[in-house]
Amino acid sequence: MSLRLIPFGGLGEIGKNMMGFFYDEDLIIVDAGVMFPKEEQLGIDLIIPDIRFLEENRNRIKAIFLTHGHEDHIGALPFILPKLNVPVYGTRLTLALVKSKLKEFYLPIEPDFREILPNAVVSCGKMSVSFFPNVHSIYDGIGIVIETPAGTVVHTGDFKFDQTPMAGMFTDFKRLTDLGSRGVLLLLSDSTYADRPGSSDSEKSVRKSFEAIFSNAKGRVIVAAFASSIPRIQQIVDSAKTYHRKVAFVGKRMIENVAIARELGYLMIKEDEILREEELSTSAHESIAVITTGSQGEPFSALTLMAAKSHKSVEIIKGDTVVISATPIPGNESLVYRVVNQLYRLGAEVVFNPSVKSDASLKVHVQGHAGQEELKLLMNLLHPRFFIPIHGEYRQLVHHARLAREVGIPEKNILIAVDGDIVEISDQEIRVVDRLPLVPQFVHGYGVGEIGKSIMKERRALGEEGVLVLGLTLHKETLKLAAEPEVVSRGFIGDDSELAILEETKKITREFFNNGALKKNRDPEILKGNLKGELNKFFGETMGRKPIIIPVLTMI
Ligand SMILES: [Zn+2]
Ligand SMILES: [Zn+2]
Repeated sequence: MSLRLIPFGGLGEIGKNMMGFFYDEDLIIVDAGVMFPKEEQLGIDLIIPDIRFLEENRNRIKAIFLTHGHEDHIGALPFILPKLNVPVYGTRLTLALVKSKLKEFYLPIEPDFREILPNAVVSCGKMSVSFFPNVHSIYDGIGIVIETPAGTVVHTGDFKFDQTPMAGMFTDFKRLTDLGSRGVLLLLSDSTYADRPGSSDSEKSVRKSFEAIFSNAKGRVIVAAFASSIPRIQQIVDSAKTYHRKVAFVGKRMIENVAIARELGYLMIKEDEILREEELSTSAHESIAVITTGSQGEPFSALTLMAAKSHKSVEIIKGDTVVISATPIPGNESLVYRVVNQLYRLGAEVVFNPSVKSDASLKVHVQGHAGQEELKLLMNLLHPRFFIPIHGEYRQLVHHARLAREVGIPEKNILIAVDGDIVEISDQEIRVVDRLPLVPQFVHGYGVGEIGKSIMKERRALGEEGVLVLGLTLHKETLKLAAEPEVVSRGFIGDDSELAILEETKKITREFFNNGALKKNRDPEILKGNLKGELNKFFGETMGRKPIIIPVLTMI
């Protein structure tokens, strides 16, 4: 009998973290995350782990344990749960974030969520699982301890050490020391910043910068942050309060997460300290703070729309101070710089530290993962027999393995594994015994699959012909237009004839819905298909073009 593990994602890449642990007939899973596509992967929304092997072994799975509520750890659940309907364990905030996310999906099953309470021990056949609290950029993160007949396995989740953490977060050094003195067989540890010397800064160290920004700003202060970074949002809220500014939360995900965090007591802000989005236009600018999404320059996020002068309630003007309280995730740099340039063009002052170790006078972000000194400290507390670096691109795994050697773990006890490796751990050795051929699964719209010919065709058409998005609001009963169709085009027209063509598009759309197209068929998919046909005929005949047309239906 031996202990085996398989990384289904997250090793050799940042994102879609998921790992399976096997002992005898029992199997447990840690995390089920997504990865965001690279800029060139057009037509793809998300990438999720390949779980065919887990589906085949469904009956052996005891549970899925979630380390925390970041997308790279929970984002695949909407796609995985219908296939693996097993109990899902998470802490309070983590489960609340999962449930809020699942509302956007239709799930044919009722998921079995179980809240992890402090000191909980979950028995999973021959394995038993317990937890320890983590400091990270989100509340309620945990590390996982798996007791197996072969020995104790520690999975860190995402973590950093912070000697002055935000209220409600702490590192349980005593627990870690106890684990170390009882003996740890295998440590799996977060490699995100294994290539960064030194230690991470305390979350509280950004407070000074925010105080300075709020005290100096004459106009509005607009801060973009991750919607899940409730500790950061708390600090911005507190600074705003000190300087007598009310806070408006803008952006769908921001508004949802703030509501969850307030309800569960993770974010403290009184009702009368909040400004509604509608009140933004009538309030004095020096009394306004806006906390919004878009810190990664994501297309269609609130900050990106503001920078493009297309946000419905915030128009950037001279006198505004915009703070980007995050660093770009590798791959997003050009998106963020595009937004920053645009904000400057509109006359705003921008505070942005492109790298986390920047010695900028105004530090508005700190890293959420352990640096080299913290990683070594953890290894020294646990002194594990075997070590596998996780959660990182290949070079980060290699750096982390080097750190392990530096603290004295013998080379033969360190294994750099990648997604799909089947790793076996015995008393004496750790080795890759086999490989699962994993195929990353691409999610587009609500479908999942490998990338097919149609997507490739779509990408090409997007590049060559552009895209036209039609926002259609229909009456639920009559399926008639309830509002003027909205048309947005990208890469399609882009010259003076644009307005005329968009008007004609609206006209054809209106006629389509008025001319009894509905009597033939009420199926929304068929309706969309027929409308696309009409429009394509028009674009083909008048312009010789064939753009991608995306009708988006809202029923009211
Ligand atoms: Zn995380
Ligand atoms: Zn992560």
